[in-house]
Amino acid sequence: MAKEKSASSILKEKLMMKNENIFKNTTLKQQKDALDFCEGYKKFLAVAKTEREACETVEKLAIDAGFVNVEKKKTLKPGDRIYLNNRGKAIILAVIGSDSPAEGFRISAAHIDSPRLDLKPNPLYEDSEMAYFKTHYYGGIKKYQWTSIPLALHGVVIRGDGSKVNICIGEDEGDPVFVINDLLPHLAKEQSKRTLSEGIQGEELNILVGSRPFNNDPDSDLIKLNILNILYEKYGITENDFITAELEAVPAFAPKDIGFDRSMIGAYGHDDRVCAYPAVAATLNCAKVPKKTVITILADKEEIGSEGNTGLHSVFFKHFVERLVKGTNVSVLDALSKSMCLSADVSGAYDPNFPEPFERRNTCFVNHGAVIMKYTGARGKGDTSDASAELMGEIRQILDSNKVKWQVGELGKVDFGGGGTVAKELAALGIDVVDLGVPVLSMHSPFEVVGKMDVYMTYLALKAFFK
Ligand SMILES: [Zn+2]
Repeated sequence: MAKEKSASSILKEKLMMKNENIFKNTTLKQQKDALDFCEGYKKFLAVAKTEREACETVEKLAIDAGFVNVEKKKTLKPGDRIYLNNRGKAIILAVIGSDSPAEGFRISAAHIDSPRLDLKPNPLYEDSEMAYFKTHYYGGIKKYQWTSIPLALHGVVIRGDGSKVNICIGEDEGDPVFVINDLLPHLAKEQSKRTLSEGIQGEELNILVGSRPFNNDPDSDLIKLNILNILYEKYGITENDFITAELEAVPAFAPKDIGFDRSMIGAYGHDDRVCAYPAVAATLNCAKVPKKTVITILADKEEIGSEGNTGLHSVFFKHFVERLVKGTNVSVLDALSKSMCLSADVSGAYDPNFPEPFERRNTCFVNHGAVIMKYTGARGKGDTSDASAELMGEIRQILDSNKVKWQVGELGKVDFGGGGTVAKELAALGIDVVDLGVPVLSMHSPFEVVGKMDVYMTYLALKAFFK
């Protein structure tokens, strides 16, 4: 006999907020769909470790789905699928809606750059018969995490004659990898007295790349010379060509399921490809002719403040919108001020190993759903775009009516945390914007962890938003 619900449990259900693991309240079919979706995501992650690779992969997916380079389009009509590739490092996809631009657009914006180690312009040197690359780290990293792990090298080199060579080494079975060494604990008495943030310093992030001399001539720098010779034979590059290169050292790990139950994914670069991939999938799978024009921006340089002409601080998105309103009597700013945007970025998931910086009642949890961050700043809401109650209300309606599981979160305690996203840049254009994305454990580390249900719910959220 079914037990009758108590008055208090009925009232609780009606009045109190619920934030629970969504494996508990989703069907097996939904769970299977989530796991299947994540298999596609893992494949994407494995080939899109840098902003250039992500841009290229998304461009291919878009072309396969019928998107056309906007440069080739003279006029636009509802149902047109277009994209803009900004210098191979940022990309915008759009599906033209039946509504006039005067009604505004539905925009999602994620970023495809991740923290990493960039080679300096003059990187190669020899010391004590070992060859190294000097690096300048990119984005906010805990430097000690980047030692003693296998690193791969990705990027491009422009040779003296102007030709370009793509480099990707350390990913294929049988490729060599690279490493930054750390001091053995036996001799680390003094190093251990350094603070955690100084345990490894910027100028100690030197990547070991060789130890074999070119020959036995009584000459200096033969290890370095041997590396240059190998690079010349394989890629036709010389030491001067490093000056005209962008080479990025990234962890050489492949994405892996985490846990006996395979409920999570561990990988390099979830931030923010874990939102970029759902945004692209939602765009490719949106209606043939959506009501409002659907736009997905995948930006570069978010991790260093969205600066530069491939970051959202630049006018490249505005320039794209100029093309969307061309031939109408609607201005770019009119269209944008009527637009709504989900800034699809990650948040820090609650970690019971480190409870101190989190405020449990306003933090997000792994596998509790897509997380909405009304604002991201800290210490008096500094440096953030704070979404209005009205916008939050509209987003809530969209998510709830489409049965998307979501939660709210702040990034850490009031006086602790905070972090920026591209929401600020978009809000500055007059767009109604709020952050929605995936909670991440060990964010900005070489091996970040996300919950599979959260990845899928972020996809469903963006899909519902584009409906
Ligand atoms: Zn980040």
